[in-house]
Amino acid sequence: MSTLAYIGLGANLGDARQTIAAAIDALRQSSGILTLKQAPLYSSDPVDAQGPSFINTVVAIDTTLEPLSLLDRLQAIEQEHGRERPYRNAPRTLDLDLLLYGTFAIETPRLSVPHPRMHQRAFVLRPLQDLSPALQLAQGSFATLLARCQDQKLDRLVN
Ligand code: ADP
Ligand code: MG
Repeated sequence: MSTLAYIGLGANLGDARQTIAAAIDALRQSSGILTLKQAPLYSSDPVDAQGPSFINTVVAIDTTLEPLSLLDRLQAIEQEHGRERPYRNAPRTLDLDLLLYGTFAIETPRLSVPHPRMHQRAFVLRPLQDLSPALQLAQGSFATLLARCQDQKLDRLVN
């Protein structure tokens, strides 16, 4: 039994594209992650963080990992790629968020799924829509949610 999960990736320090590529390689090589499909890359202006533009994408995975084990893996990959958090919302080299884990709702001190802010972020919604246009989020359709994010600058990068 495996579960379809979605992970949001963002990086905005150093060679952000390279960091995202390395993180995706690390995910692909993780035991318990069976398949991985990547959305296109986007560039976004920081929302609640300082620093240069972010590179963002989303991946869809089939995984046999339980949600907290998957979070452990995501946090290990963040660490391996030099994430430093000197203060809240500081610029970071890599942020990996578990967006959706099947249709499960999870509320623990370490993990909230669906990710509580994903429906407000164009840099999550656009690549998620690229991967799975028919996906239904509890908060509304992609069209409705993206219409509320029109003030967020987001550019699709050419590969
Ligand atoms: P953010 O992603 O909101 O900018 P962080 O990456 O620093 O902030 O995450 C802070 C904490 O959020 C982590 O320690 C983690 O335990 C918790 N967290 C809660 N829900 C999730 C989720 N769905 N995905 C990733 N981390 C989560
Ligand atoms: Mg995070």
